[in-house]
Amino acid sequence: MVRENQVIISEDDGRYECRPCNRTFNSFNGLNNHCQKARVHSYGDQWCERCEWLFVSPGARDSHTSNSSRHNLCPASNCNLDFSEEEGLDEHMAADHHWCIDCKRYFNNENELTQHKRVHLPRNIECLGCDRQFSEFAAMILHLEAGTCASQTDVDDLDRWMANSRLHQYVDYAYDPVKYCCPHCDRRFDYLSAFCQHVATTTCEQNPGTTFWHVERTIRRNLR
Ligand SMILES: [Zn+2]
Ligand SMILES: [Zn+2]
Ligand SMILES: [Zn+2]
Ligand SMILES: [Zn+2]
Ligand SMILES: [Zn+2]
Ligand SMILES: [Zn+2]
Repeated sequence: MVRENQVIISEDDGRYECRPCNRTFNSFNGLNNHCQKARVHSYGDQWCERCEWLFVSPGARDSHTSNSSRHNLCPASNCNLDFSEEEGLDEHMAADHHWCIDCKRYFNNENELTQHKRVHLPRNIECLGCDRQFSEFAAMILHLEAGTCASQTDVDDLDRWMANSRLHQYVDYAYDPVKYCCPHCDRRFDYLSAFCQHVATTTCEQNPGTTFWHVERTIRRNLR
């Protein structure tokens, strides 16, 4: 649908005309003022000053500002800023909102943004059973537990392998299936992935390098 401009602006012959009102003005200011204030034009809700365009209805104007590349609206609900350039919006989002610049996505709070940003971490931990890459050791273990690995490893395999290894410090045999325990803080975990996730955090001082090396060695020995 072609949205015809309801005003005619010709700078060269100094003609500024509102067609529906059949009124002419001798300056752009006069016409601008009319489009911004006249009741017949919904008190400015039909007028886009940036594009110098008068729309047939406020709805048509709104659809123009949401779709035109000359308008870049801030997606935050409590913010009505509208930028003429996409770069302007990007700068505003980065400075004033929870914004992931990599995928141009807006988040409600800093926590959601931090969680999301993990997808952008370098993926450099290769699965012990296939060639998939993971950004965290615990994520790789979770992939093995879930049975989604091409090696067909699953959670029962991991529990059995860990229980039969000489890594007694990580396993609590009082449970069936075994639970994992952190040698440093004595916490118990139902899954090896949860234990690895715990070790990776800074809340516990159990050394992730040594622990993951032990776990990796056990899995490698059994996968062969
Ligand atoms: Zn008019
Ligand atoms: Zn516009
Ligand atoms: Zn904003
Ligand atoms: Zn992102
Ligand atoms: Zn795998
Ligand atoms: Zn611990």
